[in-house]
Amino acid sequence: MYLKIKVLGGGREVGRSAIIVESVGKKLLLDYGVSFDEKDRPILPLHVRPIEVLAVLISHAHLDHIGAAPYLYITGNPKLLTTRPTIDVARLLTIDFLRLNSLYVDYEMREFDRMNSNAQFVEYGEEVQVDDFSVQFFNAGHIIGSSLIYIETPGDENILYTGDFNTNQTWTLKPADTAPLKVTTLIVESTYGSRNHPPRGKMEERLIQVVEETIDRGGVALIPAFSVGRTQEVITLLYTHAPYLDIYVDGLSRDVTEIYSKHRGFLRDPVLFNKVVENINFVTDSSMRRKIVRKPCVIVASAGMLKGGPSLYYLKKLYDNSKNSIILVSYQAVNSNGHRILEEGQLLQHDVGPIKARIEWIDLSSHAGKDDIVKYTLQYKNTLRNIIIVHGDYEEALVLSTRMKEFIGEDINIYIPASGEEVEITT
Ligand SMILES: [Zn+2]
Ligand SMILES: [Zn+2]
Repeated sequence: MYLKIKVLGGGREVGRSAIIVESVGKKLLLDYGVSFDEKDRPILPLHVRPIEVLAVLISHAHLDHIGAAPYLYITGNPKLLTTRPTIDVARLLTIDFLRLNSLYVDYEMREFDRMNSNAQFVEYGEEVQVDDFSVQFFNAGHIIGSSLIYIETPGDENILYTGDFNTNQTWTLKPADTAPLKVTTLIVESTYGSRNHPPRGKMEERLIQVVEETIDRGGVALIPAFSVGRTQEVITLLYTHAPYLDIYVDGLSRDVTEIYSKHRGFLRDPVLFNKVVENINFVTDSSMRRKIVRKPCVIVASAGMLKGGPSLYYLKKLYDNSKNSIILVSYQAVNSNGHRILEEGQLLQHDVGPIKARIEWIDLSSHAGKDDIVKYTLQYKNTLRNIIIVHGDYEEALVLSTRMKEFIGEDINIYIPASGEEVEITT
């Protein structure tokens, strides 16, 4: 018996996650995402013929996990398994993705819709049979509907694929599930394989402090945030700590917040989230935009790295006044506008600067850190024989692998395959 795991994307890189699991000659595809080059053009994972796979299993709605999946529906019709919020959020992100990249992408919303009609929506914990494979999705704690995927293969190997996961509880989501599974092969993300996040409570305190100081000065606190997950987390934590704040949500963030509301059963505290949504304001037009920058309030707007969208619009209105604050709460890629304002205090190509407003960066990551990942892995120590590290730079993955050997033991097999490589496990 053997198990083959072929990494089509996301090997020694963050982005374009795509993994084929093959047992007794039958294949499942885990995720099929895109990444972006330095000019923001999409890069696809390696090719797979849709007819080859029994089903496509999608861990969550981020484009680096689902963005290439509609390609499979240009020529094929594979069955797709995922959670319902994943498809709803992915639809919004895909519309936005196609609007910006139609020159480089060969599919249209028609293919997305075909994918949708081939989807079987799963509940967390529900057991689904796909041919000879048994599949279960569990909460991954990363964004709404995000899943750990557990697969019992016909070759008697039990795989757990983490997708992107967070083992810490947040304001919107429960931590990644710790179901007592007999995992023999773990496919684990390593975005933060070499680093731990600063204590969450401290970060939240600082965020609230900066916001309150800004309002007391009569200023506006602009929080550029990723539209999926980060926005909802920020508004929930702000509302819980300081319900008297005047909070506005703008851009794609607004539409995603509505989807969070619709699927609030997937959230940690649906009643709380309902209250949050009732008490914040959605920005609906440009006259409202012009008005709110003139009074003390909090504006949470996409895009999280100030790449464009309303957050860049607000930055231009607010940067020149020392009463205001710009609080970055999302990861800032090198060369992104957010990274630039942190490094240089200005954004000359957008006529911004020098920035007089207070600039802050606060880590509110939705990925497990190094020690969190190791701790999570340890719970499967008794059955675990193989670990495949993906979704991280090679250096991150190497540090994680050394740490795992220290804790789990030298006899565990750890692989860090590059995209295009295949790991063969004999059982
Ligand atoms: Zn993700
Ligand atoms: Zn990802």
